[in-house]
Parts: sequence; C-alpha cells; structure tokens
Amino acid sequence: MIKRKQFAALDQFRLVAAVLVVCIHTSPLTSLSPLGDFWLTRVLARVAVPFFLMVSGYFLGKRDWKPMGGFLKKILLIYLGAVVLYLPLNWYNGGMPLARWPRALLVDGTFYHLWYFPAVILGVLVARQLWRLGPGWGLAIAGLLYLIGLGGDSYYGLVSQIPALKQMYDGIFALCSYTRNGLFFAPLFLLLGAVGVQIKSLKLSGLGFVASLGLMTAEGLWLHSLDVQRHDSMYLMLPVCMVFLFSLLRGCNRGRNRQAADLSLLVYLLHPWCIVLVRGGARLLGMEELFIENSLGHFAAVLVVSFCGAWLLSLLRPHPRNNRDRAWREIDLEALAHNTWQIREALAPECDLMAVVKAEAYGHGAVPVARRLRKEGVKAFAVASLEEGITLRRHGILGEILVLGYTAPHEARQLRRWHLTQAVVDAAHGEALAAQGVRLKVHLALDTGMHRLGISAEDHRAIARMYRLPRLKVTGTFSHLCVSDSLDKADQAYTRAQLELFQETLSWMEAHSCPPGETHIQASYGIWNLPPQSCTWARPGIALYGVGSDSSPTQRKLNLHPVLSLRARVASVRELEPGQGAGYGLAFRTDTPRRLATVTIGYADGLPRSLPQQGGQVLIRGCRCPMVGRICMDQLLVDVTQVPQASAGDVVTLIGRDGPGEIRAEEVAAQCGTITNELLSRLGGRLALVLSH
Ligand SMILES: *Cc1c(COP(=O)(O)O)cnc(C)c1O
Repeated sequence: MIKRKQFAALDQFRLVAAVLVVCIHTSPLTSLSPLGDFWLTRVLARVAVPFFLMVSGYFLGKRDWKPMGGFLKKILLIYLGAVVLYLPLNWYNGGMPLARWPRALLVDGTFYHLWYFPAVILGVLVARQLWRLGPGWGLAIAGLLYLIGLGGDSYYGLVSQIPALKQMYDGIFALCSYTRNGLFFAPLFLLLGAVGVQIKSLKLSGLGFVASLGLMTAEGLWLHSLDVQRHDSMYLMLPVCMVFLFSLLRGCNRGRNRQAADLSLLVYLLHPWCIVLVRGGARLLGMEELFIENSLGHFAAVLVVSFCGAWLLSLLRPHPRNNRDRAWREIDLEALAHNTWQIREALAPECDLMAVVKAEAYGHGAVPVARRLRKEGVKAFAVASLEEGITLRRHGILGEILVLGYTAPHEARQLRRWHLTQAVVDAAHGEALAAQGVRLKVHLALDTGMHRLGISAEDHRAIARMYRLPRLKVTGTFSHLCVSDSLDKADQAYTRAQLELFQETLSWMEAHSCPPGETHIQASYGIWNLPPQSCTWARPGIALYGVGSDSSPTQRKLNLHPVLSLRARVASVRELEPGQGAGYGLAFRTDTPRRLATVTIGYADGLPRSLPQQGGQVLIRGCRCPMVGRICMDQLLVDVTQVPQASAGDVVTLIGRDGPGEIRAEEVAAQCGTITNELLSRLGGRLALVLSH
C-alpha cells in the first residue's frame, strides 16, 4: 500500500510552535548574544501561541462552531489536570495565597505557562459571540480589543504616559496580570483562524510572512531600545504576520497528523517541569556549567527531556489494538466529511442533509459515521429500525433521528424515551401508534407511486385523519422515489409524476390545516438526477459513502470520494504443480505451475460466495490478482503467479486503492449482479473497523 503524499502542515507546525515555546522559557541564545535571544524568544517565538489559537479557530469555524462544547470540555479537563500536575511546583515556589487562586485559575493560570488554557476558554466564548455579529464586525471588535491589549503589553511605557490611559490600565491590571489573555489577545487570533483567510499563491504568503516578520523585528527592536515594554507578547505586526504564516501553512496542509498534535500539547504541558528536572539533575551531577550556565546546553537538555517525556506519556495512552491483522474495513472519515459538503453544495440553499445511516451506515459503522457527521454540522439522521435509533442515542448522537421502517405500535414508549421520530407507514399504523397513549413525533410517509410504505398521497381523508389523532404530532412529511436512478424517458416521467403528486399533496395539506412540517423526498439518486428540490431535507445514503449504487450515468456529477476500503492479509503462499487442484470441490484446477495465496477473509465476512466465478479480483502489492476456487467461510484463494514477491502478511485489498491499482465497490457489486448498497451493507460485524480521521 503506497501512502498518498501527505504533509499535515498545520499539525506538524504545532511541533515547531512547541519548540518555540520552550525557547521562550529557556532563552537558548543568552550566552551567545542577548539581542539575538531577544529576537528569537521575544519576537519570532511570539508566533507560537497565536498559531495554536488560529488552528483552534480554524477547526471550530470550519464546522460553524458546532464542536465548541466538546472543545471547551476537553480544554477544561486538560487545564484541570495541568493545575494538579503543577501543584508541587506552586508549593515549592512558596505557595500562593488562597485569595490569589480564583484569579489565577480564571485568568492568569496557576503556573506561568498555564495562562494559555483560561485564555482559550474565555477567548472561544468571546470569539463565538463576536462571530454572531458577522466575520467583519467580529474581527473589527476583536481587533479593537487587541489594540487595547497592545497598550498594556509592548507599548505600555508609551501609552501609560497619558494619565487617563494609565488609569484605565491600572484598573485592568487590578484584575489580571497581563493583557495577553482571553479577552484582549485570544479572540482576534481565534477569529482570524475561523475566517481562514487564504492567499492563493504560496509564494505570496511566504514573502508576506518574511516581510511582516521583518517589520515585526523592527518594531520589537525599537520598543526594546526605548525600554517601554511591560510585557512582550503582542506587537502591531503580529496579527499580520500570523495571517501570512497561517495562509502559507494551510496552503501546504493535507490531512491530519494526530501524533504531532498530541506530542506538541504534551511538550507544552510538561516543559516547565522538565526545566526543574534538568536544573535539579545538573546540580546533582555537578554539571551546572553545561546544563544551566550554558544557555544552549540548557535549552537542548530541556527540549530532549520534554520530548522524551511527551513521547513516553503518549505511549501510555491506551492505543487501540492493531486490528489490521485479519480482515478489516478502513473508513476514511475525511472522505465522508468531503462528501457531506459536496452533497450539500448540490442541494437547494434551504435544504440540508438528513444522513441515512441505516444498516450500520451501509457497513461503515453507524456510530463513528454519525459522530463525524455531527461534527460536520449534520442535524438529522435516518435509520431503518427502532433498535438502530436507540444504538445511536446510547452513543450520544443528538439531533433528529427518524425511523424510516415499521415499528410495532407497542414500542411507542421506547420511541418516546429515546426521542426518536417515527415514520407512519400507513393509516392503520398511525392509528395504532396513537392508541398507545404516548405523545409521539411522527413523519407521514406518503406513497406517491412506489407502493411500499406510506399513506396513499391521494387519500386526503386518511392524511387529515392523522392530524386529528390524539398525541400524534406530525412534524414532517416525506415520500420515496422508486425509479429516480434511471435516465430512461418513461422512468423520468414517472419520477416527475411522483414529485408533482408530492408537491400537490403538500399544497393540499397546507390549505387544509394539515401542516406538513419538515419535507423530504430526494435520496441519493434524487440528488444526482433531479434539480435541487426546495424541501427541508434530502435523504442520501449511498452517495454519502462516496459511491454509486452501480456505474450507470447520472444527470449531475458530484465529486465524491469512496469512504470504505476492504482489506485482508495473505496468510500463506504455496506452489501448485500442473494437474493439482485447490479448495473445496477442487474447484480450481491447473495445468501449469501456479502460486496460490490464501487470504484471510471469507463469506462469513459478507463477501458473495460467487465472486471468484464472476471474475472477482484483489490487489496485492498494487497488482490485480484473480480469485480462484470457491470462497470458504473464512478464507479465499488468489492466484499470485504474476506477483512473485507476494508473501505471507501482505495486505490484500478487495475494495479500495493500493498504489496504482483501484477496485471500486461498483465493480465488485456488478460482478455479483447486485448494487453497492447490498454489497457494503452485508459486510459483516466480524470485520474490524479501522477509522482514519
Ligand atoms: C435507504 C433509504 C434512503 C437512502 O437511499 P440511497 O439510495 O442509499 O440514498 C432514503 N430514503 C429511504 C426511505 C430509504 O429507505
């Protein structure tokens, strides 16, 4: 498997930023050149924290601030952990009077580097409010706050010559030690990240960064020479510098690198402890000269100890077992997110996604899929059964969940308890549900021609009756198209008739005090083959997973990426002599010498047993190899005569990419005479699920 060339610039720069923060707290160049050290630690390194803030703003803004609650919770937990971690050093430093603690906890941080956490928390809350005013106003106000902060930071000596301003800052400093905090400092960078300004040309971003860093250097040296800095975290040029730097990094950013992100956070958290350890250790060993007095030696030792500590701690984290040993589904959640946004763009502006995650999200794992979709701002889900709805709720999935299929009326209490919305599959179902004495939210299914589920759209009396049933609250009305996947003239006419009947029925309902509520009719092929419909929701399933049901052409093209890859391993390779056979029934026979690989996946994993006979193939080391013989319950055989290097342990790709090769789900489904919906949703729970974010 050849990995796509990836450079997760944003996550990898976090490591650089962490090193810069260590610089700030160890002043590596003091022994060589105090001015050089000033530039490194008080000018250049000042990009580190704004960078962390911008990354947070960028990820929150990209998701419309929806993950804010979870983000704040995480930061709060890390902060509390760090406060405890540094209690011994607080105590060692002589302790803090009790009265100082509230302010330390809420604003200044309880140890010198911990100010960052309260600043992020307050900053995110402030930035979120400012964002509501629109990015323009939000940035303007955050900019103003930054200017006020600047006056209490690098420019204090100049600004405080004006008595009124000095009074104002005295007031501010009675409440917090620095203006570099969650009110004056963090909101601007969070919002700059959220806006995600991107200059198209990388060269321009790079030049802009160098130029603005030059100007910031001049600004810093000038202020330094005037000796007016109360603190040195904020410069006029810093936001400008950051816009260019962030644009540059975003321009090269592909994917994510969790390890770099985790490591940088741990280094940030641990390095003050490491400073103490290095100093203590150096004294103990009598190596003060090398590791304390020599600033570079000191810095290097702290850096090495910090990174080793962070690395060791990251090993302690519970790592999921490597479940790529036998057979697994690889779920590319980035591709899922990409598809979500591609589909949204194809919908009418007032219409959003109701993601269909029935049948374990078509074999992709309903819970991880729904979790990721929530992060992308998806607010509604559709499942096939009560059980599926409950599973999502048990795993904390919020938002609307509609049960599309029949639920026995006596389960009404369960529907209510888990806040699920039930589809009314016909008038009798609606009446039976209402008779349970439980208030229920329902969507009316209208039969507009599929003749599967729903109240006949022409049966106005039955529809009206549903609105008179006690305790049944109709919050939506929907229908399903049965030939929208076909571009055949007659089928297209049938689909048009279904749409018209749906619209007419909705109009009738509105005119007769039967408010239809949320409306939806397009599934994946309704999106691919129809113009945008002005409904509340569209209900795609297979399109979200990045493939078509088959390879037939569609009216519109969406740029979707397949989400699932199916992989297994070579268990064993053996040579067959001419005249030998292999597998059950010796169904594979050969007259020539062959090399056979036994692969660790079988029909109990959901593979159709007929696949080898229909031309089924796999990828090994990027090459296509044919399946041979009969598929067993847990194994299958592949002819690897063409790939002499094939050996035990090799990854075998049944669906997905491997180097230059790709086997698409549509291809496999077509070989078995079915559609990808069936093929994927049958992939069994015995297959491990490997998520890539
Ligand atoms: C399964 C299903 C969908 C999703 O269909 P796709 O073709 O996978 O997009 C939508 N609506 C209903 C009622 C369904 O049963």
